[in-house]
Amino acid sequence: MKDLHKHKGLRNQLVKTVQAKGIKDEKVLDAISKIPRHLFMDSGFIDFAYQDNAFPIAANQTISQPYTVAFQTELLKIEPNDKVLEIGTGSGYQTAVLIELKAEVYSIERQKELYEKVKKFLPKLGYVAKKLNFGDGYKGWSEYAPFDKIIVTAGAPFVPKPLLSQLKVGGRLVIPVGDEVQVMTLYIRKSEKEFEKHEFGEFRFVPMLKESQK
Ligand code: SAH
Repeated sequence: MKDLHKHKGLRNQLVKTVQAKGIKDEKVLDAISKIPRHLFMDSGFIDFAYQDNAFPIAANQTISQPYTVAFQTELLKIEPNDKVLEIGTGSGYQTAVLIELKAEVYSIERQKELYEKVKKFLPKLGYVAKKLNFGDGYKGWSEYAPFDKIIVTAGAPFVPKPLLSQLKVGGRLVIPVGDEVQVMTLYIRKSEKEFEKHEFGEFRFVPMLKESQK
């Protein structure tokens, strides 16, 4: 596993690209400049790692587009020590971004292969999540709730109720909602019963699947 000077150079270019697309949060940009995205992809595809595109990983899933990762992370407004629930660990790249921002990350993945891979791989890079779980994100993670922030990195056909209820008052849920195309949606919990909803344009994600779906 190598991270070379040329990769650092490519990352700086990538930072400029996502900045040009509107990402302003310096801490998010800094995380992108540090994390060796090429190591989260299969070795044959390393040349694609620093293009601003999603890319296939194992189990028919994708590593999200860097701009999308940055956009969602910016909306979360991560503070150090925030307790963050991530649904859809995937390659672990978004997880690493959250850890770079000093969040305590609880991440759930429903593909066993990806869960096993990330569990071994992330610590090798020095990224230690609080907890990784193989399971169904529709249920959230009641054992460790409530969370300051929740991020869903798969396209959700609807907003799962447990995710709203596992949010702290003042907390933020960022979730792409829709079937073919998803609208990036932010929920801010104003009180026990009130949620403020904001929508931010269209994105495309792999679908958030139910436990029983293939
Ligand atoms: N953040 C990841 C995105 C991976 S794609 C990355 O950048 O690599 C979305 C991931 O969500 C996939 O790995 C998929 O298996 C997972 N997923 C889909 N439905 C899920 C569910 N119900 N619970 C948990 N994870 C789910």
